[in-house]
Amino acid sequence: MNKQPNSCIRNALSAVLLAALFGCTQPTPKSHHDVIVVGAGIAGLSAALEASAHGAKVLVIEANSVGGGHAVIAGGFAMVDTALQRKKGYKDSPDIAYRDLMAWGETADPYWVRRYAEESGTDVYDWLTAAGAEFVVIIDTPEDTVPRFHFTRGAGVNVVVPLMSKALKDINIDFAWNTRVTALAKNRGAIRGVVGVNERTGSRAYFSAESIVLATGGFQNNLNMVRANWPAERNLPKKLLKGAGQFATGDGYVLAEWAGADMQRMDRQVTFYNGVPDPRDKSGTSALVAENPAAIWVASNGRRFMDESADSKVMAAAVDKLKPVSFWMLFDANGARRLGLRGAPWIDRDSVKRYILDNPVITAKGVTLRELALKTGLPEHSLRTTVETWNRMVDVGTDFQFNRFSEEHQPRGIQSLSKAPYYAIKIYPLTRKSMGGPAIDKLGRVVNAAEHPVPGLFAAGELTGVAGINGSHGGAGTFLGPSVFTGRIAGKTAALESSARKSPALVLAEGTNALIEQAVADGKRPGYWHFDVSHRLVSERRYSCNACHNESAPMRMADNRKEMLARLDTCTQCH
Ligand SMILES: Cc1cc2nc3c(=O)[nH]c(=O)nc-3n(C[C@H](O)[C@H](O)[C@H](O)COP(=O)(O)OP(=O)(O)OC[C@H]3O[C@@H](n4cnc5c(N)ncnc54)[C@H](O)[C@@H]3O)c2cc1C
Repeated sequence: MNKQPNSCIRNALSAVLLAALFGCTQPTPKSHHDVIVVGAGIAGLSAALEASAHGAKVLVIEANSVGGGHAVIAGGFAMVDTALQRKKGYKDSPDIAYRDLMAWGETADPYWVRRYAEESGTDVYDWLTAAGAEFVVIIDTPEDTVPRFHFTRGAGVNVVVPLMSKALKDINIDFAWNTRVTALAKNRGAIRGVVGVNERTGSRAYFSAESIVLATGGFQNNLNMVRANWPAERNLPKKLLKGAGQFATGDGYVLAEWAGADMQRMDRQVTFYNGVPDPRDKSGTSALVAENPAAIWVASNGRRFMDESADSKVMAAAVDKLKPVSFWMLFDANGARRLGLRGAPWIDRDSVKRYILDNPVITAKGVTLRELALKTGLPEHSLRTTVETWNRMVDVGTDFQFNRFSEEHQPRGIQSLSKAPYYAIKIYPLTRKSMGGPAIDKLGRVVNAAEHPVPGLFAAGELTGVAGINGSHGGAGTFLGPSVFTGRIAGKTAALESSARKSPALVLAEGTNALIEQAVADGKRPGYWHFDVSHRLVSERRYSCNACHNESAPMRMADNRKEMLARLDTCTQCH
């Protein structure tokens, strides 16, 4: 990606100098908005909706041809003291959540953790629910003393769809798809525009705005960046697979750093240690996540090295010590049925057999342990001893080696390895989530090393390492929720700061508010009861008209089914 756009001066000047000169070389903007949001992931969509609700005319610029980002392939949301938790009898509270998050994350940011613990029940759960998301399940996870990992009936896509549909219905939110932002533009010391390149046509355009929100997600699909920021205390694996989406390129980090952001916690990265190369990915670098409760794991010496059911933190520490940083997942013919894979849309029972179990590039198969040892290079004697010991422990009901099961604790899926053929899959680490990035202040403004805001620039979501909420260890659901949370905060501030600069949208809103005040004051017109009550609130709370009205819900009596339906979406502004 280019560090800085430039219409006529090239190469010779540094990016910073170019920025200073950009004012005299920049082309006429393709469009001007109050707020530009870069990235239509869950953070960007939340920022755009919030900015619009605060009266801003918004442009969302997205490199992909569709919105939603990683939330589409993600799972659940950690949220605190929600209506669903209460319904299920789980007694959560901000204090309990604060303690859990701080303990698990170890180096989490206390300010953001406290705030998220206190406000996520309303500002994430209630807000998403009002937008149409329906959470129905809460999963218990090792890091939470009270279950708070919320799911819809499916995955994150069921939250993205209502948000996306709300944004598409909002006439004050425009979209530029397939447009990758490659540079920011400075004007009189503030960030006031972006350069985007259309990914299909290659054409370049300049878009200007009063405020720019970066919500471009993490950098976990950029292996160079992952390696360059690898934590000093962990072994850098020789083979590292990509476990994040196509567009987690790290663009936003380059942009923010160029603008002067203080880049924090860049080495805090969530790495999973159960990856298999995706056999349908021609580059051979993408990962699938593999799980099998009927398997044991052996290191290159043919021995088990940990409790295979341990939590992600224990697993990361144990695998990190292996040389090389990889291991074999071992199971037999019975266990083959229990192999689960995630991470690609083509996965189903038949394709797992075809592309994984029957694929010698991924899976070694042996009718005997000797054959398996030959195919994997694992020492035969030690492999045989490991399997025999395991089978004996299963028979007596106690894992004397790593305490995975015992007389008191008999998890499901534990079985002996005795039915040929035997399988071994080589497992590698995979990249997943970024926990660092440009520092933001309490209002979502990007700040420099002196903690001063970079004028005009805001950031949200995984790009910011979700504000340090995870510290050094990613928790369950602690990216999606915080992405919404920080997105809303950045979107609101971006809108307010743009309106403080008297953008055209606000002038229009103020004018319209005056008209409403007049109409409501005249009042008492028969048949206008709801109109008057709701618009009095609009007036008192200084809502902008576009908080409720858009193309589908225009400013007139809703006299057809489509408009009535569109208006239903706005009930929750007041109720
Ligand atoms: C497989 C998987 C499963 C996960 N499961 C969970 C889970 O269960 N719970 C949880 O909390 N978290 C989970 N996460 C993490 C979570 O999905 C992300 O942290 C979260 O979705 C980030 O949202 P975001 O909007 O900040 O960024 P993203 O979702 O990455 O969205 C960023 C958007 O910006 C666009 N973009 C990037 N660069 C540019 C550019 N230069 N110009 C224009 N657009 C650009 C991208 O195309 C993308 O649409 C998971 C992640 C993965 C990979």
